[in-house]
Amino acid sequence: MKKLILKAGRDRPIRQRQPWIFSGAIEKFGREEAGSTVRVESSEGELLGHAFLSLPNKSLAARMVSFGTQDPDEAIVESIKRALVLRKSLNLDSDALRLINGEGDYLPGLIVDSYAGHLVLQISNAGWEKRREWLKDLLISECQPLSIYEKSVGPSRKEERLEDREGQIYGETPEVVTVNEGDVKLYVPIHKGQKTGLFIDQREMRGFLRNLSSGKKVLNLFSYTGGFSLAALKGGANFAVSVDRSELALSLIEPQLEENGFDQKRHQSIQADVFSYVREQKKLDFDLIIVDPPALAKHAKDRVAAARAYKDLNREVMRRITKETMILTCSCSAAVDDKLFSQVISQAALEANVMAKVVGRHQMAPDHPVSLFHPQGSYLKSLLLISFDLAGKMD
Ligand code: SAH
Repeated sequence: MKKLILKAGRDRPIRQRQPWIFSGAIEKFGREEAGSTVRVESSEGELLGHAFLSLPNKSLAARMVSFGTQDPDEAIVESIKRALVLRKSLNLDSDALRLINGEGDYLPGLIVDSYAGHLVLQISNAGWEKRREWLKDLLISECQPLSIYEKSVGPSRKEERLEDREGQIYGETPEVVTVNEGDVKLYVPIHKGQKTGLFIDQREMRGFLRNLSSGKKVLNLFSYTGGFSLAALKGGANFAVSVDRSELALSLIEPQLEENGFDQKRHQSIQADVFSYVREQKKLDFDLIIVDPPALAKHAKDRVAAARAYKDLNREVMRRITKETMILTCSCSAAVDDKLFSQVISQAALEANVMAKVVGRHQMAPDHPVSLFHPQGSYLKSLLLISFDLAGKMD
């Protein structure tokens, strides 16, 4: 097996179990194709673990799959088994589960979600690409899935010069799978939907919000397939409005209302660009508003522009509230951390001239574990605010 030797004094992150090796830390590595497993050694020749090699000219040059002297193939199998055992022990009241969460399960770049027994596989680097068939067989024997659908797409694949790959690799996955999140039935458009079909990472927040919804009028901005709206209606909301630009996502809301036994009159779908929609409204006369945009910063270099976009969006929402309004505002940009997000939202409130108290923060979904040694894995953040106009009186 080829070696990757770190520069003197650059072994500390690896000793601290960070999974990513950047090219600047590397003294030399043998010529090997992307996806190969290499021994990672300190400058003194100590074995620190094993890593999947990326392309030689990449800044993120390798990703650790094992630490210390453990055999990497054994370590990978063990990490997969540990990930699966964890999901069982979590006892979550849902059959939409993330079974493998990449770096959070010490399996960099590997995502496996399960929707009522149908697996969706997402591979984002060459290491897994090489082991794809092996991985498929392992998932079949360990999970006994009904089917496996592959959705290996996204920017990190491009960086590894891997073509996107999507399609059925085992059994048959229905276009739309129905899952039970608690006692709410959700439709998951696996083939044509976003991500692997559902934003499983917001499960706990949907539950949280549901408990706050009784008697409320709810606006769900960037609703996707209406998960928050359905949770709110289940919690007794009077009325919910879902706004998204995706026709496919919105088209699934009506049948889900029916499936859950909700009166269609309690919901309205609006297909629109949310940024323009908000600006076009004179007032947003709602009790509860959800603002859950897509990642506005895709890379660290977009951090400042994204912070501004979050600020502007939230300010425009806050400016239009008509009474004491609960706002659940979220960011799934890894580059915008908790601290920056709080600063941005407080600046938005100042500019909108509203008072705001934080009454809740993001509750992460435990099937999306974050490695203690790789806090960057914690990308999703939310603030639940009670906000009211500075000049306003009690309603
Ligand atoms: N809250 C959702 C997930 C939202 S994901 C849930 O819990 O399921 C972000 C959504 O924003 C996607 O559905 C995407 O279609 C939508 N979107 C992205 N840009 C948009 C825009 N400019 N206007 C409206 N919707 C947009």
